[in-house]
Amino acid sequence: AKSVGGDRWAWFDPIMDQLAAEDATLGAHLTQAIARDELFMLYQPIVELPDGRFAGVEALVRWRHPEHGLISPAVFIPLAERNGYIVELGRWVLQQVVRQAAAWQREYGDHAPAKVSVNISARQLQEPGFAAELAALLDREGVDVRGLVAEVTETAVLGTGAALDAVRALNALGLRVALDDFGTGASSLSLLVDCPVQILKVDKSFVDGVTSASPQAVIVDSLIAITQGLRIEAVAEGVETAEQAERLHRVGYKLAQGFHFARPLPAEDIALILAGQPSV
Ligand code: C2E
Ligand code: CA
Ligand code: CA
Ligand code: CA
Repeated sequence: AKSVGGDRWAWFDPIMDQLAAEDATLGAHLTQAIARDELFMLYQPIVELPDGRFAGVEALVRWRHPEHGLISPAVFIPLAERNGYIVELGRWVLQQVVRQAAAWQREYGDHAPAKVSVNISARQLQEPGFAAELAALLDREGVDVRGLVAEVTETAVLGTGAALDAVRALNALGLRVALDDFGTGASSLSLLVDCPVQILKVDKSFVDGVTSASPQAVIVDSLIAITQGLRIEAVAEGVETAEQAERLHRVGYKLAQGFHFARPLPAEDIALILAGQPSV
């Protein structure tokens, strides 16, 4: 880090430099992760309320670092966004997920997950030709575009006109778009006017408060009214208890995701669910 002005800042310099160096080291490792086969995907079930019937999955990437073990995507995705590796990483994720969706469709036909959701970062969304590239991938793997859901954050979409154009292009292709972590970014409700989304993912931070007399509970109630009015789907994220699930169902939520129902699982475990063995 550069010194700005007087002694005040000198204090922070060694720490900032160390953080930057660690970031660069981890970042350099990350750019080797695909080649070294250190990334893998898990799939978390999205279920219907109240019975927990299987409705789809969200694909979540994992990085097994050779020395540090599992590193959270909450750490390495932002890092990949900073060092630019996100474009390659995102492309790898899409390839894995679309291939997996194709395999499920071949194996389980109509019983394959109706929706396979995949997270798309801001940088990825703004890559020129992103939507066309995704369309080509779906076509190559023989996956119905209606089976894939692109999860984008409000911050990503608010960022630039390019991101909003990409969302429109995804829609034009017939893909559904979900607004992720809704209400946690620096957004405004007018995003729902400007950005054509089919699904709203209500963030865990609101769901956490749903069983108490809290502002979060009021927001959860209001958001279901908004989605019903706009005729879009709502998914409650991070549902951890039966009480939360029950309350969400009572106020009108039809879809949920969270540890109460299932954790992110390897594709083989999803196959067991699809084959109708243990229920979620
Ligand atoms: P997200 O998109 O909001 O994904 C949901 C996160 O909540 C996941 O964390 C999931 O494991 C966690 N979760 C689900 N249910 C519960 C619950 O009941 N309780 C708690 N405490 N957590 C729950 P994960 O897998 O660690 O991912 C963190 C974030 O990293 C994701 O948040 C997403 O923003 C990003 N991410 C993950 N995979 C990808 C990817 O393939 N591409 C991109 N661009 N971002 C990804
Ligand atoms: Ca997501
Ligand atoms: Ca989310
Ligand atoms: Ca989140």
